[in-house]
Amino acid sequence: MSQPPGPLSQLRRGHEELVLGLLRKHGPLSRGELGKRCGLSRTTLYDILADLVAAGAVVTATQQEAPRGRGRPAETLTLNPDAGQAIGIDFTRRGLHVAAVNLAHEIVGSASEPHAADLPWEGRVELAERLIGSLTGTGSGALRLGALSAIGVGVVGPVEGPEQPEDDEDPPPHPVQLLLHERFGVPVLLDNNTRLAALGEAIWGAAAGGQDVLYLRLSHGVGGGLVVGGSLHRGAYGLSGEFGHITVEPGGARCGCGGTGCLETVASIRAVLDAYRAAGGRADDVPELIKAVQSGDETALWLLDGVGARIGEVLAALCNAIGPSVIVIGGELAATGAPLLDPVERALAEHVMPVSRHRVRLRRATLGEAAGALGGIALVLHESPLLARYPAGPDLAEDPILNQTRTP
Ligand SMILES: [Zn+2]
Repeated sequence: MSQPPGPLSQLRRGHEELVLGLLRKHGPLSRGELGKRCGLSRTTLYDILADLVAAGAVVTATQQEAPRGRGRPAETLTLNPDAGQAIGIDFTRRGLHVAAVNLAHEIVGSASEPHAADLPWEGRVELAERLIGSLTGTGSGALRLGALSAIGVGVVGPVEGPEQPEDDEDPPPHPVQLLLHERFGVPVLLDNNTRLAALGEAIWGAAAGGQDVLYLRLSHGVGGGLVVGGSLHRGAYGLSGEFGHITVEPGGARCGCGGTGCLETVASIRAVLDAYRAAGGRADDVPELIKAVQSGDETALWLLDGVGARIGEVLAALCNAIGPSVIVIGGELAATGAPLLDPVERALAEHVMPVSRHRVRLRRATLGEAAGALGGIALVLHESPLLARYPAGPDLAEDPILNQTRTP
């Protein structure tokens, strides 16, 4: 499955996808049944099947209840439940999360590990490889990567892409794409990790089924993602969802983006912990802050009330601009609960236009730290209607990385 790209390998990949799709939809099928449904010539089909079996993507079984009488019992082919088809990796600022799905598109596992914020890409990719190894392992029931078709990756910050799907000009590959491609030999699709988390929540999480969703993540950075009219919104330069850089304090603290007074300077983990300590509180991390909140610490409650109000004002402005039906709040700070979210609700009630303020629902994210990795998988599978018009939609028959590295 790692031949150089070309019309023939693209055709072959298409045939493989066709056969895998039929097995996913119908369950176990005999060679004869597959032949009738796929329309490929017998020689081509047998050829494709031999490769899929060799790769571990498809396994054969002899039918238990073969009809009595003459002839061999029919052999059926089925998807290997231990074969991984797609991996999602979320490279956050201080840690990474991986998740994998098998050929039936069931999530077979996820894993996370924190790391230092200055760990170079080589180290992060090594760590990712180790975590994926923990999902694959060697024991029975371990995931096999012979059938891996692509990796979906989320990274911090804006991700440039073709402005229009038909644009020929692709941006240069990200270093992490090259490194992962080198190790796994499959296409590596890239997007902003918070937007991928929004996608995950809108497909499987707190906003499942929502057509107009606003997602905000309160973590080491503050960012988000938008689903508008049933489509994940990317923006002309991949900049959609940068809610953390909306100004809340003109002339305020300097922000990592180069601006001042952004929401991130008030509502990121570091900003909240710094403000808490400056006000006399003691907490080195979010779990300690949560403990203080739960013990009724007045300073912590007062601080979160102010931060929540700021967040709520920004969200209310966004509501009036976009008109979401659901707002999802995720990230570590969301775990502080009501002391942060109640003032958000109050600000929404106060600042969203009266005609819609009672229709917007505020929810906590449900996928936890795996949301971004799951969004990466959704990007690879490209089955969600939310991605129907998404410009970064992958064409797995073409390998963007190989195509680019071939031209000097
Ligand atoms: Zn900023």
